Amino acid sequence: MTIREYLRFRHLTAVGFAVALGLAGYIVCFFLEASRPGLNTHPIVTAPLIAVVIVGIATRWSLPCPRCKANLYKLRLAQFGAKDRRPVWWVFDKCPNCGVSFDDPM
Ligand SMILES: [Zn+2]
Repeated sequence: MTIREYLRFRHLTAVGFAVALGLAGYIVCFFLEASRPGLNTHPIVTAPLIAVVIVGIATRWSLPCPRCKANLYKLRLAQFGAKDRRPVWWVFDKCPNCGVSFDDPM
């Protein structure tokens, strides 16, 4: 696995986890509402949504280089600004901090 593949895998795993958590919350609420009419399921809906937001923020603001642990999202933000939404592994071919190529093996 190359560093580029690792970065993509790590990002997509976090996004997939957040989406799965949110969907699981809604499915649980659907069955609880069906089995007990009038039940207040707001806390059950709210908890997965908060988890989705936390995971989203965490993946948005923390993607360390596997070699030097520099935060690649912050480096991308500093170089390209907040409007550039491309993934880190698209905008950089190497770590801007330590220079390791993203095509190198882990
Ligand atoms: Zn680095």
